[in-house]
Parts: sequence; structure tokens; C-alpha cells
Amino acid sequence: MDVTIDPSSGFCFGVKRAIEQAEELLDKEGKLYCLGDIVHNRAEMERLEGRGLKSVGHREMMELSDVPLLFRAHGEPPSSYDTAHSNRLSLTDATCPIVRKLQERIRKVWQEIRPGGGQVVIFGNPGHPETIGLRGQTDGEAIVVSAVDELDAVDPSAPVALFSQTTKNPGEYKQIAGELKKRMENHFTGGGVPLKVYNTICGQIAGRTPGIRKFASSHDVIVFVGGSRSSNARVLFGHCSEANPRSWFVTGAGEVAGEWFEGAISAGVCGATSTPRWLMEKVAERIRELTAKK
Ligand code: SF4
Repeated sequence: MDVTIDPSSGFCFGVKRAIEQAEELLDKEGKLYCLGDIVHNRAEMERLEGRGLKSVGHREMMELSDVPLLFRAHGEPPSSYDTAHSNRLSLTDATCPIVRKLQERIRKVWQEIRPGGGQVVIFGNPGHPETIGLRGQTDGEAIVVSAVDELDAVDPSAPVALFSQTTKNPGEYKQIAGELKKRMENHFTGGGVPLKVYNTICGQIAGRTPGIRKFASSHDVIVFVGGSRSSNARVLFGHCSEANPRSWFVTGAGEVAGEWFEGAISAGVCGATSTPRWLMEKVAERIRELTAKK
């Protein structure tokens, strides 16, 4: 069995940077709190927890004081900075610079369009930490939509600035923008539609789609390694399945099954932007073990 790991899979720049910052602090301090999981991958979290990282929720953060705390790549709403400041937490802000810029842009646009009755709409998962951080820039006023049928919450007679969570699917974003435009056209017949669509899907995500599809179609079987809570993993795995119906999703090497490779001569291992390289290597090793026995 020829087993290949996709060279383009694995941590994106923002997650890599946040983990490096956490590791540096762990070397120095021996203990570090992180607001939420630094990466949506249990295996990588366990590795970091073994080095002294402790993931806490927003409620637990309120009870901390005078300890080092890290904000992960997804970013946080302003209220988290207020808590860190009032509890004298020694804050390391590992918000991805791309997310940081998006937060600033949303705040600026919101401040500009709000007095004229404009709406900020964010295409994202309402419970996703990045989307919570983005919405926080508008004091919670932005309308979050995760599907076309949720667009009823948007007033089509008022101007709209449309943004996307950085990890969303570009095709779905296009669909949302198209449907919104159509709805607004019925209300603005004379002077054009006051809809501004901002291209805010991260290039690290958009660029991976064609690459992973090509990788998936060039192997008999694909094993995709990702965290069950990773939004990016779901999107990329969807592309693998479309390009190659013999695609399987695993969170670790123990889930790989030998029968998946019946009659196959090549297997490809790939993953999300939150999947560590070492985990993909373990999965590749497991495939070699299982197929060698046959
Ligand atoms: S996906 Fe892009 S925006 Fe999101 S953390 Fe990674 S590099 Fe940053």
C-alpha cells in the first residue's frame, strides 16, 4: 500500500503561531491558562495539557486572577479583554492577525453604517468562538446567519454589510450573498442595492480546497484526520468526500479500519488546519500496519 500524507494539510499560520506562543510560555512558566481549546483537536490538546496548559471557559476565567492567560487564534470579543484586565491576568493575545484585522474592519464598518440604519450581517456558526468575537465588535448587534433560510432576520429595505467567518465555505458564502442581493433588489429598484459583500474567507482555507480535492481524487482511499468540533475539518472533509466517495473521517489512528482498504493500492492521509502533523503521521503508520497484515 502506497500511503501519502498531503503536504498542504495541517496547521494554518494562525494556529501554528498560537501554539508556538503557548509552548514558549509553558517553557518559561510551566503553567498557562488558555481561554477555550487552543486548537479544535483533542490529541493536540492532550499533548499541550501534558506540558501544563489548562483550558478554561469564560465563566472560569472570571474566577482567575494574577495568572498567565492566552487568547487563542480565533479571537475574543471586547468583554473578554475587560475581564482579563480587571482580574489582573497576564494576557498573551494570540489572536490570528487575519482575524484581528477582520474584527477591526467589522467594528469600523458598523460604526459607519449604524447611524443610517445599516446592518452588519456575519455568515458564521453562531456558537463558533471566532463568530462570537466578530459579533462582539458590534456590541452584539450584528446578525449572524448560518444558512440561507436564516436571512429572514435581515431587513431587506436597509443597507447591509456582509462578512464571513474566516473558515466558511466560499461556495456557501456566495450563495448567501446572492440570495441576499435578490431579496434586496425587490426593495431598491431605483438607485442600486446598498449591499456590500466583504471577501473575508481566509486564503489559507480557500486555497486548500482545490488542493485537497486534487489530492483526494488521486488516491484510492482517503483518511481525513480532524477534530469532531472543527468547522474547518467539516468543510475540508466535505470536499474530500465529493472528490472521492471512499473518504473516511477519523479523530485518531485507533479509528482506522482495515476493511476500508480492500482492493486499494494507494491511500492518502490529509487533515484540517487544526490537525497536527504528528497525528497524520500516526494515522499513516496505522494504515501501513493494517494493510501489511493482509
Ligand atoms: S484559518 Fe486563517 S484566519 Fe483562521 S486562524 Fe488560520 S490563518 Fe488565521
